[in-house]
Amino acid sequence: MSSLEKRILLKDWGKNNCHTIEVYEEEGGYTALKKVLIDEKDKWTSENIIEEVKISGLRGRGGAGFPTGLKWSFIPKDTDKPKYLICNADEGEPGTFKDRVLLEDLPHGFIEGMIIAGIALGSKQGYIYLRGEFYKPWQRVEEAIKDAYNKGYLGDNILGTKHSFHLTTYRGAGAYICGEETALIESLEGKRGHPRLKPPFPAVEGLYKCPTVVNNVETYAAIPHIIINGGKWYANLGQGSEKSGGTKLFSISGHINKPGVYELPMGLPLIDIIEKVTGGIKGDKKLKAVIPGGSSTPILTAQEAKKAIMDYEGMAEAGTFLGSGAVIVLDETTDMVELAYRVAYFYDHESCGQCTPCREGTRWVKNILKRFKDRIGSADDLDTLCDFSEYMSNGATICPFGDAVKMAVIPIVKKFREEFEARIDKTEKVHEKISIGDR
Ligand code: SF4
Repeated sequence: MSSLEKRILLKDWGKNNCHTIEVYEEEGGYTALKKVLIDEKDKWTSENIIEEVKISGLRGRGGAGFPTGLKWSFIPKDTDKPKYLICNADEGEPGTFKDRVLLEDLPHGFIEGMIIAGIALGSKQGYIYLRGEFYKPWQRVEEAIKDAYNKGYLGDNILGTKHSFHLTTYRGAGAYICGEETALIESLEGKRGHPRLKPPFPAVEGLYKCPTVVNNVETYAAIPHIIINGGKWYANLGQGSEKSGGTKLFSISGHINKPGVYELPMGLPLIDIIEKVTGGIKGDKKLKAVIPGGSSTPILTAQEAKKAIMDYEGMAEAGTFLGSGAVIVLDETTDMVELAYRVAYFYDHESCGQCTPCREGTRWVKNILKRFKDRIGSADDLDTLCDFSEYMSNGATICPFGDAVKMAVIPIVKKFREEFEARIDKTEKVHEKISIGDR
């Protein structure tokens, strides 16, 4: 294990039967819940739990990075409606595979976090929405829920107190867009996974039109550690900006020696992560580019990556996003035209089709990129591509999917334009043949 790693959420990962409730309890699991409900029950009011989470600086680990404590504080207190808690386990962003580890090997951590969140927000019912392809993780989560009920951590009158909280799993059907919180809510209600217009936000009108908090698996998994050690302790784990505290799970893949899931303090230089944590580029090749936070975050050139810091602010300074922490490392052999096409193909396939700019735009972006892949692109195509991407972003669509396509594709085209220009077909014959209709 690299000395840069800091295992907090992953501290039990790799131990025998680390997914079981017995091992979790042996290693101090459910202590945070007991602290909140029994040992220090007078201290841990709803407000104090939310305040501690605010102090920790914990931000949504699914990709958006919204401050968790602030999100929780939006849930209205004076309402007769039930309040719902959702765990977004629909991990589908290309390059991301870190929640899978928590779901499959360490399920009690985020379950304990959800119960504490339920107590803080006055919610009695939580749902775990898993991507349909996650069969084994779903089985493990089901087993963990059953064991937590048997031990009295879930159900009515948890550990003999007045608090009740129930958990139910729900398996999606493999749509990328159901990772967007309102599409997830629609799907959970048994409808098509189509994103809703916001506002109203889920905190006011979410599941069944009731106040709802949606957080990522990793976000919930951090909660017990914040309760045990304090928000300040968690915030100080970060080594970069004050606004990016704690640790982050990174799923790192691509042309590196040791791909995998790593828990690292926020604020490390990206190049140190590549060289010291993942063992550097395979086969002594040169670094060409890095997609730093999942496929919808703008790509960084090698030069940009060498200066970039891996936290929310560092990534913003580099002109990109931390996203879900899915780092895809690309070496000098990478064909950027092929990469852009593959990314566009994915988004075209996953557009839910509700809004015209996205439904039509994603297809056009993919088709134009196919022309470069087939070496029949024209110089005008590159400008057309950039125009399309503008039309389908900046508020032109119901959800941020349109923006994601622009962020995923256009920086590849702009930063590696010479590779696209090299695929322009200069024979007049081909250009005569191609018209708008042919596209
Ligand atoms: Fe669906 Fe795309 Fe519109 Fe989002 S932007 S609602 S994915 S069509």
